Amino acid sequence: MGADIVIIGAGFAGAATAFHLARLGRTDVLIIEREASAGVHSSGRNAAIIREHADDAAEQALLHAGANVLRRGELAAFDRRGLFIVGPGQDEAARYCPRASGRGTWHPDDGTIDVSGLLGRYLEGQRVLYGVTVLDWTHGAHGLTVRTTEGDVDCRLLVNAAGPWAGEVGKLPLTPYNRHLMVSTPMPWVDGRWPVIWDGYRHFYFRPESGGLLFSCCDETPGRPGVYEEDPKILDTLQQRIETLQPALGAIAIRTTWVGQRTFAPDRRFVIGFDPRDERVFHVAGLGGHGVTASYAIGLRAAEIITGKLDGRDDPFGAGRLF
Ligand SMILES: Cc1cc2nc3c(=O)[nH]c(=O)nc-3n(C[C@H](O)[C@H](O)[C@H](O)COP(=O)(O)OP(=O)(O)OC[C@H]3O[C@@H](n4cnc5c(N)ncnc54)[C@H](O)[C@@H]3O)c2cc1C
Repeated sequence: MGADIVIIGAGFAGAATAFHLARLGRTDVLIIEREASAGVHSSGRNAAIIREHADDAAEQALLHAGANVLRRGELAAFDRRGLFIVGPGQDEAARYCPRASGRGTWHPDDGTIDVSGLLGRYLEGQRVLYGVTVLDWTHGAHGLTVRTTEGDVDCRLLVNAAGPWAGEVGKLPLTPYNRHLMVSTPMPWVDGRWPVIWDGYRHFYFRPESGGLLFSCCDETPGRPGVYEEDPKILDTLQQRIETLQPALGAIAIRTTWVGQRTFAPDRRFVIGFDPRDERVFHVAGLGGHGVTASYAIGLRAAEIITGKLDGRDDPFGAGRLF
């Protein structure tokens, strides 16, 4: 078995890279995914928010480029519900969501997206081996031999898009951090068209979901790849945040809680580039909390560097900065 390019992982990193490689004419690509389907890990455990705001200027540019494409709604259904950031600014949150408190700024072009539809779109027509785990690889005369749980695969280039495992797989200093999301029981007073209310400074956001509200307290605990232990104390933290930051929401009954992993490099910037120790390995990793919003632009940048359309040397996302 073989392919020109083997990609480890069918999350947004791997799928968007394969999507753009195909658009650039590179179709001899094989994605290897340890799970029985795509989107089991970070790409299926997120808040589905398209939010174009990063502290880092380089990352902001990719968020802008990626969000602009997704907003067209051609790849997956996009809901331009808007996003209100509580913080600097004089606008009133209650203008956009009658139960929200605080002042800040209104971002009408942000919103939410159908994440499984988007991931499915990137993977359309791709060759994916599901239920197969990449173990390691060795160098041969013409490229790499990738050892998997189902046998060896030969390739010219290996792309590490292993999400929370990307640090282990690619021997990179990446850390997965656990974050809880919680969804309330349906509540008749929730209007499904409300925007996302984001209090970035005080670590709290909410938006409508399934007739109720989805909440995050923006918690961040270092974790182990694929280990999703829920901390029951998160429910107390949520009630405290509601009482102090958004009291008009009142008492909330939580129906579902889950944990996802956001994986970061030490400087919290995406990692997109060839491995300086091994030119046959390319990383698309450390997508942190922006991997849905920036997916289109991240995949494009990765594919352009891989195919030589873009010079990856001195790139702000290059992996060389990690060593
Ligand atoms: C709680 C939470 C909320 C978030 N909210 C948002 C949001 O609102 N907006 C936004 O833009 N982003 C958000 N994100 C971030 C976004 O979800 C991630 O950045 C993105 O999904 C990362 O994609 P990935 O492909 O790197 O990782 P993953 O989706 O985890 O994909 C990696 C894949 O690699 C596979 N794999 C790993 N090791 C191997 C191996 N050895 N062999 C074969 N397969 C392997 C895994 O099974 C997995 O499917 C959120 C994340 C979390 C956790």
